[in-house]
Amino acid sequence: EESSSKCVGCGAKLQTEDPSTIGYVPPFKLTENHRFVCQRCYYMVYRTRVEEHLKMGATEETTNKDILQSLKLFEQRLENICSKRCIIVYMIDIFDFDGSFIDKLPSLVGNNPVVLIVNKMDLLPEDINIGRLYLWVKKQCEARGLSKIHRIHFVSCKNDLRMGEAKADIIRLVQYLHSDVYVVGCTNVGKSTFINHFLSGSIVERKKGEELLNHLGLKPGQFSLTELKRAYKDKKAPQLTTSSFPGTTLNPIRVHFGRAHSMYDTPGIVQPHQITHCLHSEEIKMVLPKKRVRVVSFRLREGKCILFGGLARIEMLQGKPFFFTVFMSNEVKVHPSTTEKVNELLETHVGGLLKPPISWRRYKELGNFKAKEFEIEGVGWSQSSHDIVVSGLGWIAVTGCGKLKIRVVAPKGVGVFLREPIA
Ligand code: GDP
Repeated sequence: EESSSKCVGCGAKLQTEDPSTIGYVPPFKLTENHRFVCQRCYYMVYRTRVEEHLKMGATEETTNKDILQSLKLFEQRLENICSKRCIIVYMIDIFDFDGSFIDKLPSLVGNNPVVLIVNKMDLLPEDINIGRLYLWVKKQCEARGLSKIHRIHFVSCKNDLRMGEAKADIIRLVQYLHSDVYVVGCTNVGKSTFINHFLSGSIVERKKGEELLNHLGLKPGQFSLTELKRAYKDKKAPQLTTSSFPGTTLNPIRVHFGRAHSMYDTPGIVQPHQITHCLHSEEIKMVLPKKRVRVVSFRLREGKCILFGGLARIEMLQGKPFFFTVFMSNEVKVHPSTTEKVNELLETHVGGLLKPPISWRRYKELGNFKAKEFEIEGVGWSQSSHDIVVSGLGWIAVTGCGKLKIRVVAPKGVGVFLREPIA
């Protein structure tokens, strides 16, 4: 109940009176049994739709001020949390490691134990080497100043992958330290899903026999196994709302668990360099992978390129042929082509063969595209030398021998960079 009266983006209490303060929702939008984002979060997501925004009486200036203000608030809240004695469950999305890392966090955690939950492992190829990944994650965290980590768990909240170990670990810590748990992470890393999972498990474990059946609303001897499973899965445990709209959580959402302790769903943050910020909801759905990604490799020689829908492309400028292995949502249409033909291809196929964006008009709305050049030195055919990351969209591992010069084109403002390869 508590969470339903709060914005699923920022956590602010929803209100229908004052459009100029936080948590405002137009009254006509407010219907029962629906999850809400407040108007401000809504516009943060859809800020390309400035016109609509202006129609509602806001100015561009106030929008930007709002965003800055909420970022500041976010940092303050994070500071408040970390200054308490607590267990910090810090969640990261393995599919968007760089985008979901909160740069401020390392300097704030102090002596509080940090349990790092690396989520959405179900999206990576099955044959991923966890040992190598562990070292990679550790190194990436250390490079950002997060060196004291109690434990790292590689999980999938959604598919219940290694969640048991993570839960047991957190419960052990709670019993040992007698403190509350704060689940910290960017919006969309899976905090709500994690907490739901955590709570459904613990409720079910604590209730046995008749008590459990009562809780699930079933009568002894009058249900099938399927019904029982469904009852477990359904709303019988306290569920938080999950959402795929990036936003900023301002107020922690509190959930009781165990006897004396609480678990808090805490601030999320908007990372301005993520590609999702220039996309519409339909496009966001395509870009965020839902299933294990089908990894595809291309061999490119000079003059060739790969297009990632109409959102980004890699052009091979100079060097011997290299392999480019693409880790992206299966709904992003990936096409190899010739650099010369790119413009023609975009003009004829954006919105169709090249999706997202969903139309030529939307492609134009993305505004200016920016090119960034990289020089890469391969380390041989058995191992990738780098990942090229397009923030929020995915990454491309490069493999080959000798020197390579490439150009990456993406909408202006979207982060494009090289990193040590993940796999
Ligand atoms: P929050 O904003 O951090 O609370 O994130 P949510 O729990 O709302 O999740 C954001 C999105 O990520 C939702 O669409 C979830 O279904 C999805 N999600 C959460 N956990 C996983 C996971 O383990 N694997 C995958 N593939 N998706 C997940």
